[in-house]
Amino acid sequence: MSSDISDLPPADEYLSEEEVVHLRSVLREQIKLLIDRSRNNLGDLTEEQSADGDQVDVAASESERGHRLRFAERERKMVGKIQSALERVAEGEYGMCSECGGPIGHKRLMARPVATQCIDCKTMAERHETRSWGS
Ligand SMILES: [Zn+2]
Repeated sequence: MSSDISDLPPADEYLSEEEVVHLRSVLREQIKLLIDRSRNNLGDLTEEQSADGDQVDVAASESERGHRLRFAERERKMVGKIQSALERVAEGEYGMCSECGGPIGHKRLMARPVATQCIDCKTMAERHETRSWGS
């Protein structure tokens, strides 16, 4: 009926309401797990620091601590990605490519709920990155 519908990408590329709800619960589950895990992780670190056990091998525990901090840092970044995905859900922008504004597509989002770019833009960005390798 309305002619402006024809300007939109194919409707089947857009997420249905059920799919958004499903992915939102997946994202919430993931963020909960990450936060629980990093809380445990950091809890251990604090215990180690406050423990007065001076017989602890300092070098070994320092490198162990470094590992955990790097791991915690990676998890923190992942939490940030999930949080911004959840914000996009709240704003009704979830599933839209941050580059071209088109739909990211179900398959891609089901496989990677935190994706912010459609496969075309992502491929383009990766090609751009690998160009500097000089084949
Ligand atoms: Zn795109």
